Amino acid sequence: EELQRNAEAVDGNELVAMCLARAGIDKMFGVVGIPVTSLANRAVASGVRFIAFHNEQSAGYAASAYGYLTRTPGILLTVSGPGCVHGLAGLSNAAANGWPMVMISGSCDQNYAGRGDFQELDQIAAVKPFSKFSTKATDISEIPNSVFSVVDWALRDRPGGTYLDLPSDVLHQTINQSEAERLISEALDSRIPNSIEKPRNSQIQKAVELLRKAERPLIVFGKGAAYSRAELELTKLIETIGIPFLPTPMAKGLLPDTHELAATAARSLAIGKCDVALVIGARLNWLLHFGDPPRWSNDVKFILVDISGDEIESRKPHLGIVGDARDVVGMIHEAVKDDPFCLGRRHPWVEAIRNKINDNVGRLELQLGRNVVPFNFLTPMRIIRDAISRVGTSCPAPVVVSEGANTMDVGRAVLVQSEPRTRLDAGTWGTMGVGLGYCIAAAVAVPDRLVVAVEGDSGFGFSAMEVETVVRYQLPVIVIVFNNGGVYGGDRRSPKEIIGPHSHDPAPTAFVPDAAYHLLIEAFGGKGYVCSTPEELQSALDQSFSARKPALVNVIVDPFAGAESGRLQHKN
Ligand code: ADP
Repeated sequence: EELQRNAEAVDGNELVAMCLARAGIDKMFGVVGIPVTSLANRAVASGVRFIAFHNEQSAGYAASAYGYLTRTPGILLTVSGPGCVHGLAGLSNAAANGWPMVMISGSCDQNYAGRGDFQELDQIAAVKPFSKFSTKATDISEIPNSVFSVVDWALRDRPGGTYLDLPSDVLHQTINQSEAERLISEALDSRIPNSIEKPRNSQIQKAVELLRKAERPLIVFGKGAAYSRAELELTKLIETIGIPFLPTPMAKGLLPDTHELAATAARSLAIGKCDVALVIGARLNWLLHFGDPPRWSNDVKFILVDISGDEIESRKPHLGIVGDARDVVGMIHEAVKDDPFCLGRRHPWVEAIRNKINDNVGRLELQLGRNVVPFNFLTPMRIIRDAISRVGTSCPAPVVVSEGANTMDVGRAVLVQSEPRTRLDAGTWGTMGVGLGYCIAAAVAVPDRLVVAVEGDSGFGFSAMEVETVVRYQLPVIVIVFNNGGVYGGDRRSPKEIIGPHSHDPAPTAFVPDAAYHLLIEAFGGKGYVCSTPEELQSALDQSFSARKPALVNVIVDPFAGAESGRLQHKN
């Protein structure tokens, strides 16, 4: 039997599949074609769930978000040349967000390299700016090492995207079974474990002293803290010392948005007036106004906690602590818990934030309470918020996916996150077009949760065809499209502005008004709804949320309701 087993040849495709399985990979996203179809089939035969997309861009976005949600690299499989180029969208998104993913692309036959082979491209050069590590298996014997390296590198230090190039001739080479096993165990033996150093106690003590002496301390946390699953440690720390906290958009839910120390609704005051800010797993980039005045006060002392020493180095904080967010927060909590200080509800800083929150929330709720028809952004967002909260009382809270300028801005303020890692949005890079890919990733990564996408019509359009993928795999995804007829809104030009030889063309911002997006999903057997009134929307959400089947809710919004560039008008 042993002899017979050895006689069975293992080709490159099968060896890649074997190695992925040994690396703990059980999901893949991608688009098959020459030369990787057989690789996908072998992976499926060895137990991997392969989610086949229409376009590598969406598959790549899915792989990046899957890596974030599971802490296992999301795998994107693409064909050569154009497939690899489309996949760069996902790879670059993973790099920008610091999420672990691996892009694996087939490439042309090495024997014809440089002579214009089918879909030929120097793919190693193409991925360079977007990958933290890339490698080409130039011979079948290099496959095991290459596969384990790309997986391990994706997770190391700050997570990110890596790339594996598999020439078609290598995929067709064969070796016997025992040789394959030998190569795999050798490669497994030479894997370098991803060890994270614990920070020094003296640094923890310094952080505690700064927080203890602060008059207006603030704890800010980001998706690095979410990725490290620091929620329990953060809750303990925050509740022990009573310091207000501010999550970045995707860190919402690590502690519930409704927590009494949540400063989200008093964000400007909290960051503008705090004197010590403990920033955990969040970069001081545009999302946090670079940590600069006037949004932050001139003399704020930053304590930065980050897995990346380079990140801390580049920001020059008052105190930097390199380490895993969960470890560091746990250590800070340990250090304060025997000699606790707690600001308490009556502390002037805590009270000032609470008063501001009450003002701001009161004002917003007043606007939200009105039923505006034709719909503005607020009325449907309130109805969606309430529907999502109702799900959260009986089942795990849904994952909310959000993109689009106005829809994402309004959604961030209105939708309530009560559980960790239940919000995915355009992220660090402001990437539009991530919606359907993220929905599919979330449905595959956390199958017990409903997925609700709250999308602008323009964001949705980038990947609209992937509604077929959602239907094909029968994923519990409800896509809600805020349809205001264009990018930022419909055609709002006055006749005076319409000049020039192409004036009969629609405005660059405009789409077909009242597009019937709900029919798109019906083309594939999903359920579509179109809603122009609160009653219609309420009923569509009730039905689709309880059915937990693919659905698209087309919400007709006043084309004049959105602002150009949403909240970032100064950048346009
Ligand atoms: P946000 O968009 O939420 O502000 P960013 O993506 O800007 O967050 O920042 C996340 C930071 O978290 C990155 O600098 C990254 O290096 C860091 N990070 C990633 N994983 C961890 C971890 N396990 N522990 C601490 N920091 C982490």
